Amino acid sequence: MSEAPPEVSSLAAASREAFAAWVAASAEGRLFGQILIRRCSSGYSLRHAEDAGESNLEAHEDPRSAREIAKLTERGEYRPLKSSPNLRRGWEIRVSDSVELAVAMSYLYPAGIVHWHLHRGGRLGITNFRENATRQSGLYKRVQRLSDRGVQDAARACCEDAVCLKKTLWDVDERTPLEMRRGDGEIPCPEPCSVFISFARRVRLFEREERDETGLSVSEKEDLAALIEAAASGAGEVEFAREAEFEKPLNERRMRYRRLTLVPRLRPEE
Ligand code: SF4
Repeated sequence: MSEAPPEVSSLAAASREAFAAWVAASAEGRLFGQILIRRCSSGYSLRHAEDAGESNLEAHEDPRSAREIAKLTERGEYRPLKSSPNLRRGWEIRVSDSVELAVAMSYLYPAGIVHWHLHRGGRLGITNFRENATRQSGLYKRVQRLSDRGVQDAARACCEDAVCLKKTLWDVDERTPLEMRRGDGEIPCPEPCSVFISFARRVRLFEREERDETGLSVSEKEDLAALIEAAASGAGEVEFAREAEFEKPLNERRMRYRRLTLVPRLRPEE
C-alpha cells in the first residue's frame, strides 16, 4: 500500500487530534452533522443525536462499521450524499482512541473533520460555482450556462439544512454571494458537490424550456400532475423519488425548486 505524502498525513493527524480535543472539551459531547460524540471511559461513543438518551442500541466496536451505517437510510435507500439529514438511527459505535474516532467519522462524513479543522484555522480553500463549472465536461458542461438566478435557486433547493447539513461556504462567483441560509452545522462545504452539479444540470434544462399559453412548461405540468396523482392515490404519505433522481417529478429537491420558482407564479398575490 502506498503511503500518503507527509503533508497529507500530517494534516490528517492534526485534524484528528484537534477534533478529539474539541470533543473531549465538552462534558455533554459534541454534535457533528447528526452524530453525537461523547468522551467515555473506554474512549469515545458515537450515536445518532436523536438516540442521545437511548440505552438499547445495536453496539459496534469496529470504527469501520460506520461505513455500513452510513450507506442506507432507515428505509433501505442508498445515501448518495452523506451530509443529508437521513442517517439511520438505532446504533452506537464505541472506539478507543482519536485514530479510530477519525476512521469512523471519515465514513460518516467523508473529509468532514479535515475541512472542519482547516476552516477553524482560516485555511480552507473555497471554490465558487463558476470556477467549479469550468471544470465540468460531457453531460455536465451545460451547467456553465446556468444563470445566476438558477444557481441561487438551485442552492436554496439543494443545500439548505432541511436537505444537507453542511454549511455552504461557496458563492456564485467572486462578486455574487449566495442568498440563502448557509446552515448552522459544524461541517463546512467549500465547493459545489457532485449531487449539486447534477441538480444544477437539471435546473439548466428547466431554464431552457418554453412555457405554453397556460404559462407552464412541460416539466412543470408533469410535476403538478404527479403531485395530484400521488395525493389522490389514497396511499396517505406521498412517496418521494430517490434523493438524486432529479429527472423524476416527486424528487424532494426538485419540489423545493418548484416552491421557489413555480408557486409564486401560481399565487402571485402572496
Ligand atoms: S454543495 Fe450543497 S448539497 Fe452538496 S455538500 Fe455542499 S451544501 Fe451539501
